Amino acid sequence: MRFFTTLYLLLLLYIIAALLFWGYCLNDQSERIYELEKLQLQTQTDRQGNSLLTQAGLVELEDKRSRRRSQYLGEGSTFLAVIFIGAAIVYTSFRRSMRLSRQQSNFMLSVTHELKSPIAAMKLNLQTLEKYNLDEERKQQLIERCIREANRLNDLCSNMLFASQMEGGQYISINEEIDFSELSHTVARDYAARYPERIEANLEADNAVIAGDKLMLQMALHNLIENALKYSDKPVKIDLFTKARHVFFRVSDEGGGIPDTEKIQIFQKFYRIGDEKHRKAKGTGLGLYLTKKIMDQHRGKISVRDNHPAGSVFELSLPLYRS
Ligand code: ADP
Repeated sequence: MRFFTTLYLLLLLYIIAALLFWGYCLNDQSERIYELEKLQLQTQTDRQGNSLLTQAGLVELEDKRSRRRSQYLGEGSTFLAVIFIGAAIVYTSFRRSMRLSRQQSNFMLSVTHELKSPIAAMKLNLQTLEKYNLDEERKQQLIERCIREANRLNDLCSNMLFASQMEGGQYISINEEIDFSELSHTVARDYAARYPERIEANLEADNAVIAGDKLMLQMALHNLIENALKYSDKPVKIDLFTKARHVFFRVSDEGGGIPDTEKIQIFQKFYRIGDEKHRKAKGTGLGLYLTKKIMDQHRGKISVRDNHPAGSVFELSLPLYRS
């Protein structure tokens, strides 16, 4: 990247230097034309002896010279401006494509890991079940682990499929009346059953009805809760309430939090904070991107802020269809 930036800057400097050199040469040529024409005029005057004509000729020559100068200056500065604008456009798109390709290679790394590790875990659990004659409790444990890994694979595949369908315009969303309170209760209950010691649900709003696609909204709620559980090891709070004809779904965690500089970037496709090689938490950088898209489709909003004393608060707000 640094090598290309240096090469690019050198090339740009060369083009500018060449342009200035050509400008200098043109001006020099114009001066010589002026001197030559002046000489011709003087020779003519010596022959004819009309000094009034010489004066008028000299004024015209000076006028021509200054017009040439303005033309060179005008055209030169236009070229320079075009070069600068073009260079800025090329440089920003180059940087953007470099960033995207880095994010995509990060995505490939994490997806490969995300796909391989649940498969490996399931294989190991099933081999243990096959090989040993385990007691009922241990068997149950291994089966539950397999189901958990299969759920993870399922979530990952749905996110990836959903992302590509949404981008290709193939996902046909359903616009129906949804009891958002009931949907939030179901999702929160499901997580409370899976993580009894970590979920604190405080779902106040009853009968908060919105218009939208149930599957999409369910995915948005899942993504926020999954993240809170993944990026923190403390209890996660889920709140639901209505205010000003909107329903709010809030997920608060006490994890590491998100730096202010990354708070907008995390909603970009494939964006993950930090470096893939040193990251411990699994993921693909698609969850928040999709959640934001889902909110856009439902005329809703997603926001993130710091939790106190630690962690983050993610909040979805959706307009009520009827309360
Ligand atoms: P993924 O979790 O699959 O990496 P997301 O799009 O859901 O992708 O999140 C993007 C990034 O935002 C994550 O990689 C993580 O760095 C950061 N992030 C999301 N939620 C939280 C959270 N609750 N606490 C801290 N960081 C978070």
